Amino acid sequence: MSLGAIVTLGELLVEIMRPERGIPLWASGPFVGPLASGAPAIFAHAAGRLGAPSRLVGTCGADAFGDVIVAKLEQAGVDVASIRRVAGQTTGTAFVAYRDDGERDFVFHARHSAAAALEPADVTAATLDDADWLHVTGTTLPLGDSVREACYRAVRLAAERGGVTISFDPNLRPELISPAAARELCAPVLEHAHVVLPSGEEARLLTGAETVEAACEALLTGGADTVILKRGAAGCTVVDASGSQQVPSLRVEEIDPTGAGDTFSAAFAVARRRGDSVHAAARFAAVAAALSVTAFGPMEGAPGLDDVERALQRMDA
Ligand code: ATP
Ligand code: MG
Repeated sequence: MSLGAIVTLGELLVEIMRPERGIPLWASGPFVGPLASGAPAIFAHAAGRLGAPSRLVGTCGADAFGDVIVAKLEQAGVDVASIRRVAGQTTGTAFVAYRDDGERDFVFHARHSAAAALEPADVTAATLDDADWLHVTGTTLPLGDSVREACYRAVRLAAERGGVTISFDPNLRPELISPAAARELCAPVLEHAHVVLPSGEEARLLTGAETVEAACEALLTGGADTVILKRGAAGCTVVDASGSQQVPSLRVEEIDPTGAGDTFSAAFAVARRRGDSVHAAARFAAVAAALSVTAFGPMEGAPGLDDVERALQRMDA
């Protein structure tokens, strides 16, 4: 049986980045870019780079920045037929600066850009017909009512159809959203998600639990089969009915961590679909995500299948 498509939906953005750390966004100074970005676009690109059939449903402007993203996705073999170019609206942008301590600052133009034009009608039966995996990221949900409804519709259709694994990366910024608002926003996705990939803090925010352990328990009780806690350079922890297992990460020199979480989710989907156990898939994903942080730019480090397999072999040696 041939494998179906990995589908995701949401924002396409370009990033305009400070070329080095410590240049604040308010300062007059150099930028580099446009670099293709947007969490769902990074996910789709990473899945494509790993050789999987990958489709992105989303919107961007009919402008040069939109061309940058579509070309980057096409290069990775992503199916871009469901990307709608919105006339009269510009492609979303994110200006990004790294502080000396590695924290990031942003100026976003997303909610009032073409990225927010996605609507439920963009999610057709054909979008999901051949899908066996659907991924949603929490960065998409606050973009506007119609975008949010499009995500909820995709999740509902996938759940109704069956045979589609639904994964959700909450990607919440605790400093930007209250726990109550986060729960309300994510509930319709969590209701159907099989795999949830939060950080420890996001897990607590989503569930209101005091500890990360209790938060994972609550997510499993709420219907998820698998919770994967992402822990940056420390790797990740897989929590499911059989207990909790730590998965170490590959030691790398971190150049740009943007997109590590999205690459992790995509690699996990790729590995699970080919039959890897949850633990093996998390290990594969951790290595793919580690490789992705070794290059400057949101999509630049995305590894191919061979790169990940070679790194895994080196780890085992
Ligand atoms: P973001 O939302 O900022 O993209 P995230 O919180 O979703 O990030 P991280 O925990 O930063 O995700 O990264 C996801 C995974 O990528 C980690 O669980 C780890 O496996 C891998 N990873 C991230 N940074 C590093 C690093 N510096 N070295 C090795 N592996 C890393
Ligand atoms: Mg994240």
